[in-house]
Amino acid sequence: MSEATDAPAEAAEGEHQERAIPPPWELTYGQYAGTHCVWCGGYIPSRARLVGISVGRSGVHVLDAPAYAGPCCP
Ligand SMILES: [Zn+2]
Repeated sequence: MSEATDAPAEAAEGEHQERAIPPPWELTYGQYAGTHCVWCGGYIPSRARLVGISVGRSGVHVLDAPAYAGPCCP
């Protein structure tokens, strides 16, 4: 009855599911700098893609940083 207005069913089975972006204080320097994958910590040789923002703050300091993932975590 309720036809999908969202994503097609095929796309909803584990591919490209949203993954949580760790807060900035859990990132390594490389992850924070965007040279390493935010999820697996592996070095991203090329084609890093922006997958979200790591949001957090320490007192008055906003630590938000763009989070990148590589081909390692499609
Ligand atoms: Zn990865």
